Order: sequence, then structure tokens, then C-alpha cells
Amino acid sequence: MKKMRAAILYRPNTPLRVEEVTIDDPQDREIMVKLVATGICHSDLLPIKGEVPSPLPIVLGHEGAGIVERVGPGVTTVQPGDHVVLPVIFTCGECRYCVEGQPALCAEVLPAHLMGTLPGGGRRLHKGDQDLHLFYSQGSFAEYVVVHERTAVKVPKDARLDVLCLLSCRVTTGVGSVINRAGLRAGESIVIYGCGGVGLSAVMGAKLAGAGKIVAVDLLDRRLGLAKELGADYVINASRENPQQRVVEITGGGADYSIESIGNVNVMAQAFASIHSAGTCVLVGAAPMADVLSLFPFEFLLGKTLKGSLLGNVRTMIDVPKYVDLYMQGKLPIDKLAAKYYTLDEINEAIAAVDRGEVIRAVIHFD
Ligand SMILES: [Zn+2]
Ligand SMILES: [Zn+2]
Repeated sequence: MKKMRAAILYRPNTPLRVEEVTIDDPQDREIMVKLVATGICHSDLLPIKGEVPSPLPIVLGHEGAGIVERVGPGVTTVQPGDHVVLPVIFTCGECRYCVEGQPALCAEVLPAHLMGTLPGGGRRLHKGDQDLHLFYSQGSFAEYVVVHERTAVKVPKDARLDVLCLLSCRVTTGVGSVINRAGLRAGESIVIYGCGGVGLSAVMGAKLAGAGKIVAVDLLDRRLGLAKELGADYVINASRENPQQRVVEITGGGADYSIESIGNVNVMAQAFASIHSAGTCVLVGAAPMADVLSLFPFEFLLGKTLKGSLLGNVRTMIDVPKYVDLYMQGKLPIDKLAAKYYTLDEINEAIAAVDRGEVIRAVIHFD
């Protein structure tokens, strides 16, 4: 057992409170990780704003990276001192999704996420005699986490953890949505709606996969500038131009693929309208739970495909090490996502900056 500090959400629409809590020793196949950095992802904002139901009180945060402090019985994949990133997906290796090669859909993930526990229902974090919940089985707005070893991926010790933490969610979601889910091949065209961390990662993924025309859409010129730097061939400011019309002009009839990375149902409809008749639209943005998406069914008769993707259909043990190598070789320049660093005590300020869209890569640094 260890005492440490964590940022706790007690009620929606109230600030997180940074308080002293206790964390249990890791149990069977669990590891304790001393966090070096954690990103603040847009999904962390949904329980804060009450836009998705969430068990309370909860420690949010799901883009952690750090150093293994201690391991529980039966752990074989890492040892103390190893550097790890913590993708939000647990894979049991035995359910139908894991067996058929779609581990991001593992049957054990959703129940644990909904209950705010570790896979299997364990809770290792306490405030006095009250058990605390964990966001996405992680809860990385804290100095330490105890997680299942199958939610940790070992990374080289010379790679920057304050950059690699983004591989836990946003970068993996963006790159994976293009390569794993859309299945873009060299020369094909793609339009990416939203140039936050996920959308810009999708731009990098499209570049990496050899896309023909890459079109990025956003409301902020600053973000569109970054999209260009990362590989977008065309950018559209949707506050000044009709993005669907422009995409049709640029691609000569509609893009082969579109990605919606924001979680806004109106933008999802625009993304679906931006592909040609045989095109594929991939939704990766997390919309508020009660929102409803309206589409013209006729467009499906034309042959369009609509897909969703959770965490870019990542196969963590295969894809995350690959993305780390690509980053180290300069082929996946995730460090170019403009960063701003905060301490744990500044977390509410950091969350407000993310909410206002001011900062793409807000990272809590723990030292
Ligand atoms: Zn996320
Ligand atoms: Zn599974």
C-alpha cells in the first residue's frame, strides 16, 4: 500500500480535487506504475461535463506513461524499472473479439469501463474507507496507478514518455482509424474532420500510408497550419467555406475515405456526405451519449459505408511498439503536436485549456 496524490471528480461540473489517497499493492497479474506523464484527452472531459454517465467519485485520466515500480504475482511481460505506456484497451486473449483479431473490442473492456474498475472488477484506490473508481480502468490523473499487465506496453528507455503518453489513446486512435479501420491504400484520398490530437494523428497516419490527397477540416487556422505541416495537402476552414462542397471539388466527386474525430453529430453527417458512392466514413469521435445521428438512408443504397472505431482498432501489442519505432525514426512526428505542460495541481487549468481548444497536447508532468 502506498500514499499518493490523485485528482478526484466528485460531481459533474465541479473542479477536480487533488487529494491524498491510498493505492493497494498490485495483485495477480497487476503492476504498479509511477507515472511520468499523462495526456488530457477530450474523453476525460465527458464525465466532467456530465455528458456520459460515470460512477463517482472517480479518478480520470487514460493517457498515462511511466516506470514500473512493482509487479504482482504472475506478471511476465514487464519488470520494475521498465518504461511503459498504458493503452486504455485490455485484451483477455480469449473472447471472440480477441480470438478473431479485434482485441480493441475485447468483451471484458466495456463492463470494466462502465463500472470504473480494473478488468474483472478490482478496485485498488481508496480515499479513507471509500473506494474510488478509475476512468477506463486506468485513472492516470494520479502519481501512481495499479493496472493489469495486459494494459501496459514496454517502450525503450531513451524515448520521451511525455511524448509517448499520447500513444495510450489519441495518436493510436487517429493513426489506427486510417490504417486499421479505413484500410487506406497508397494513392487513395481522405478527408479528416477535426484537427485536435486524434485528427492530426489521422493526418500523420494517412501520410504514413501514402495517401493521395489528404484534406483536413477545422474551424481554427492555427490547427490547420499544423495539419499542413504534418502532411495535409489541402486545408478547409469550415467557418469560411462549405467543407463538403470543397472536398467534392478537390477530389473530383468525393473522397475515398472520411474520418470524424470530433464527436459532433452534425460534423459526422458532413463527413458521410464528403465521400463518393463507394467511399467509407469512419467515426472515431466520442459524442455525448444521448445525441442522435441523422443520415439519408438513400446514401447507403448508393453503396456508401459507415464504420465506427474504438481506439483505431488497435492491436496494442503489435501496433504500439510499431508506432514507437516510427516515432523514433522521425516517420510519425507526434512530438510536433504542440505541447503545453502542467503540474497535477494545475489540472483544472489544463482541462479548461483543452475544453477551449487552446492546446492540442496538454500533458500533466509529474516531476
Ligand atoms: Zn482518449
Ligand atoms: Zn477479449
